[in-house]
Amino acid sequence: MSLARKVRPGLTVAVTATTRQDDDSRRVRLAASYVEALENAGLVPLIVPPLSDTHAAAAILDAVDGLLLTGGEDVNPALFGEEPHPRLKTVNDQRDVTEIALILEAQRRKTPTLGICRGIQVINVALGGSLIQDIPAQSPAARDHDDGSGRQTRTHEITLDPASRMAAAIGATKCKVNSLHHQSVKEVAPGLHVTARSPDGIVEGVEADDRDWWALGVQWHPEEMTDSPEAWDRGLFRAFADQLKAKP
Ligand code: MN
Repeated sequence: MSLARKVRPGLTVAVTATTRQDDDSRRVRLAASYVEALENAGLVPLIVPPLSDTHAAAAILDAVDGLLLTGGEDVNPALFGEEPHPRLKTVNDQRDVTEIALILEAQRRKTPTLGICRGIQVINVALGGSLIQDIPAQSPAARDHDDGSGRQTRTHEITLDPASRMAAAIGATKCKVNSLHHQSVKEVAPGLHVTARSPDGIVEGVEADDRDWWALGVQWHPEEMTDSPEAWDRGLFRAFADQLKAKP
């Protein structure tokens, strides 16, 4: 590696992680695919675990150029005024609180924000929307969006709004995506609009109405597809990186 490459200033991204019990120890966990996708886009990931103090959100965003909300647990439905459905999976209240504080602070200061899987869901809940708690139970006409076909298999098509930032980033208005979710956006939050859907009508992408806030959420896992022959998912990370470079 040349010296010139080492001294290149890095653009940093706060990447949310989770906590999980691992034998006798509670550990911070993040799938390495997020780290690799960000590094491949020229970005430096800084991992942010669930924290006990929501005031940390401002300090975190002072220190980074962008925010990436990653996949994981279900969002607690109490946050959108619903009782838990029997098919609700694990929740992590500390993670919900930490991520919601980060999203609201990012919205306030227009920090470029990308949400993936749980990320699109928690952005929607943070801004006042709701979720389908279990697609098979609550939207039975929809296809299976978690059919076990693997993290790197494109299982269903999506159609993108041609006027969206998402379509520009992906470079297409139709593409195929992987699918590893049993929840999805139900009522879209004020300040967001749908920019991608699967053929069964499930929301697969949203973005902020505010043109000064680059905030995109996707229901699939583009970080697992950056080695794919199709450039769609790399395009999403490249567009995120371009936003960080463009920020004053
Ligand atoms: Mn899907």
